[in-house]
Amino acid sequence: MERQFPRLSVSLPKLRRNASEIVTRCAAKGIDVCGVIKGCTGIPQVARAFLDAGVKQLGSSRLEQIVRCRQAGVPGPYLLLRIPGLSELPEVVRWCDISLQSELTTLDALEAECARQNKNHRVIVMVDLGDIREGYWDQDEMVAVCAHAERDLTHLELAGIGVNLGCVGSVQPTPEKMNDLLALRDRVEKAIGRKLDIVSGGATSSFTLVHWNTMPEGINHLRIGENILLGKDLQLEWGIEDMNYLAMDTFTLTAEVIEVKTKPSYPQGQLCIDAFGHKPTYVDYGIQRRAILALGKADVGDEKALLPRDPGLTVWGASSDHCILDVTHCDREIKVGDTVDFSLAYSNLVYVTAREDVNVVCIEEGEVNS
Ligand SMILES: *Cc1c(COP(=O)(O)O)cnc(C)c1O
Repeated sequence: MERQFPRLSVSLPKLRRNASEIVTRCAAKGIDVCGVIKGCTGIPQVARAFLDAGVKQLGSSRLEQIVRCRQAGVPGPYLLLRIPGLSELPEVVRWCDISLQSELTTLDALEAECARQNKNHRVIVMVDLGDIREGYWDQDEMVAVCAHAERDLTHLELAGIGVNLGCVGSVQPTPEKMNDLLALRDRVEKAIGRKLDIVSGGATSSFTLVHWNTMPEGINHLRIGENILLGKDLQLEWGIEDMNYLAMDTFTLTAEVIEVKTKPSYPQGQLCIDAFGHKPTYVDYGIQRRAILALGKADVGDEKALLPRDPGLTVWGASSDHCILDVTHCDREIKVGDTVDFSLAYSNLVYVTAREDVNVVCIEEGEVNS
C-alpha cells in the first residue's frame, strides 16, 4: 500500500548544493569529505547526490545502509563509521572499503576474515580526545596497536587515524584538540616509518574550524552528515550566522490534518500518566484552535524538534500516532484535509526515513536559492 501522507520530499539539487559548498571549502584547506548518509537511513539517491558533489567516500554507521546503496548501484567507496562488532566482520569485509577501529581483538579478527575472503581492507584507528565515546584513551597503546597493524596484519592497510568530538561528550572541536591529533599522527608515523594517508578530524562540529579558518594544517579528512543533510545545527544551535550558504529546507515533511477543533489547552479531569508513562506538566494557554496531524512520535521521535514552515503555527505535543498543533495564531485557516509542512531536525530525519510507511519522494527539479 502506497500512502500519500506523511510524505518526505527530498530536494536533490539542494543537497548537492550543500554538499558542494562544504566539499569546496574543505578542499581549499586540503581536506577530503566523507559524506555521511546515516541521518537519512542511507537513501541511495542522496548518496548519489553526495558523490556528484565530490565527496571522497560515503559513510554510515550501519552495514544495512551501505548494502542498500551498493545494491542500488551507488559505487562508494564506503566507510563504516561505527566500530564494527566481531559478529559483523564478514559483512564489513564484503561490503565496506574502509572502517573505523578501536580494538586490537577486532583488528586481529578482521585480518583473519580478510584472509578468509582473500580481500584487503583499510582501517582508521580512533583516538579519544575527551568526548568519551569510541577510541583509544591510552595513546601509547594506540601507537603500539597501529604498529602491530602495520607490521603483522598484512590484509589490512592502516590508512590513518581519527577522532570523534561533539557527540556523546559534547566536547567542542578546537585547534588545540586538532593539534593533539596531529602530535599523535607524528608518533604513529614515526613508529611505522611512513606517512599516513588520512588524519580524520571529526564530524559536522569540526567543520566550524574550516568555516572560521582555524583548522590546523595536516587535518585532511572530515566525516560530515548533518551539515550537508540539514545545515541546521551549526546555524541554529551554534548560532553561526554567516553559514547561510547552506540550505536548511533540503527535506520537507508533509502531514495531513485529520481533526480541527476549538478546545481547552489544559487537560480536564484528574491527571495521571501519558501514553509514554510520563507525568507531564501542562501550561494553560486558555482556549486554542487545535489541529491533529496523522503523524506521531513513531514517525519523528521528538515532535518538539520539528520546524513548522507556517508562521504562527506551533507543535503542542504528540503521542505515537497523533501530533497536535496549536493553529490559533496561524497565518492561514487550517481545515481537515489540509497538509502542513515541516523542516526537520536531525533526530526527526533519523526516525522518519527509517519508516517503511512514510512516502519518500526525491525531487530533481526546483529552485536552489543562493
Ligand atoms: C555520525 C558520525 C559522523 C557524522 O556526524 P555529523 O554530526 O552528522 O556530521 C562522523 N563520524 C562518526 C564516527 C559518526 O558516527
